Amino acid sequence: MSVAPSTAPSFGELGLSAPLLRAIAESDYREPTPVQVAAIPAVLRGEDVLAAAQTGSGKTAAFGLPLLQALSVQPCDAAARDSVRALVLAPTRELAMQVGESLRAYSRYLPERLKILSVYGGVSINPQMMALRGGADLVVATPGRLLDLLDHNALHLAGVRTLVLDEADRLFDLGFADELRRIVALLSAPQTLLFSATFPAEVQGLAEQLLRNPTRIAVAATPDTTPDIAQRAIRVDAPRRTQLLRQLIQTEGWTRVLVFVATQYATEHVADKLRRAGVQAQALHGELSQGTRTQALKDFKASNVQVLVATDVAARGIDIELLPAVVNYDLPRSAVDYTHRIGRTGRAGQAGVAVSFVPAQAEAHFRLIEKRHQLRLPREVITGFEPTEAEVVEGNDAPPAAPSTGGIKGKRKSKKDKLRAAAAGNQVADTTQPKTSAADIWQRRRPTSS
Ligand code: AMP
Repeated sequence: MSVAPSTAPSFGELGLSAPLLRAIAESDYREPTPVQVAAIPAVLRGEDVLAAAQTGSGKTAAFGLPLLQALSVQPCDAAARDSVRALVLAPTRELAMQVGESLRAYSRYLPERLKILSVYGGVSINPQMMALRGGADLVVATPGRLLDLLDHNALHLAGVRTLVLDEADRLFDLGFADELRRIVALLSAPQTLLFSATFPAEVQGLAEQLLRNPTRIAVAATPDTTPDIAQRAIRVDAPRRTQLLRQLIQTEGWTRVLVFVATQYATEHVADKLRRAGVQAQALHGELSQGTRTQALKDFKASNVQVLVATDVAARGIDIELLPAVVNYDLPRSAVDYTHRIGRTGRAGQAGVAVSFVPAQAEAHFRLIEKRHQLRLPREVITGFEPTEAEVVEGNDAPPAAPSTGGIKGKRKSKKDKLRAAAAGNQVADTTQPKTSAADIWQRRRPTSS
């Protein structure tokens, strides 16, 4: 098992080429993160890698930089002509776009321009088919769209030398198990890299099936890698949450805030109420067109929109630099989702705050989340928002009831969205079912002699 040393080597000492070092320097990465220290040399040596790494750990560069280096020096052999040479599977459209963007940025000074494409559902398949003509050096894909492209004979995998599974646990959470099985059966990549935050049984099974004698990487949560997130819990009556949110935006001086709600309906409803109160707010959920989602994220990142009101699925994996605050307007269904949500702030060494609104009827549910995290947050009461509702004491550990809605009028749920909804529904049971944490699995795998 690789353990990150206390004094980190420089990127140059990890064996990366000058054009990549130049791009890294321009990205203002001063030194490699622990997962990069451990993964980059192993990937360059052509080894398989099994890494326990969270979003925000720098994992994209950890697999991306050595992968780009290998692609830039490996000649494209005959079998790879018209084929994809490296394939990254990502759970969401946003992550596929983001990883593609990062890899294109890292590759910009390589002597030969690499063709790096992101392909994902929710947009027309034709431009992606056109772009794939003649093959590609690297494709970042969501599993469903990858299979559609294969069905259209628009893409060939015979020449894939490296397969990367990014956020493998999320791939399963979002219902991609069948797609993964089909894709994996088509591949015989000599090198596989698997990154996952948690290691439930499906991920362990996939790792055992695909990886050969992998370099195992577990980055201990040192003060350097533990994000600086202040967690707060505020007691408030459910009907007064929007008003409280507006007040907090002002009093706390949040320039941008990501607000999580339970349903697509609620994203629209809360964003609408905020807009009517003069706050620049935008909804983000899975039923919006891909164009609208991309634009919403762009506007938020560019600070044209101050409040993004999102569902878990829509916000998963997105990387927003300098996000000072996350608000759980509705509590997450599971303790795992709580971690994912609050991890959107406090990234890249910046401090952040995560505020959870806890109406009386959600108190028992929040206590379960706290218990899972061995956490007990003091309940704050904000002057003017003193709660009047009584706590439901008996066995009510369900999250606050979602407004019943058939979704957004005039839009039909796609098959994938239905699967995702089912996966999200299953997470209710997850609340009391801890997933194996990264730390757990590495602890268990460690030989007793070490
Ligand atoms: P990731 O875990 O790949 O989503 O990366 C999280 C964030 O950290 C992204 O905004 C990256 O641009 C940034 N990042 C990655 N590596 C480094 C590094 N070595 N130094 C500073 N920031 C980094």
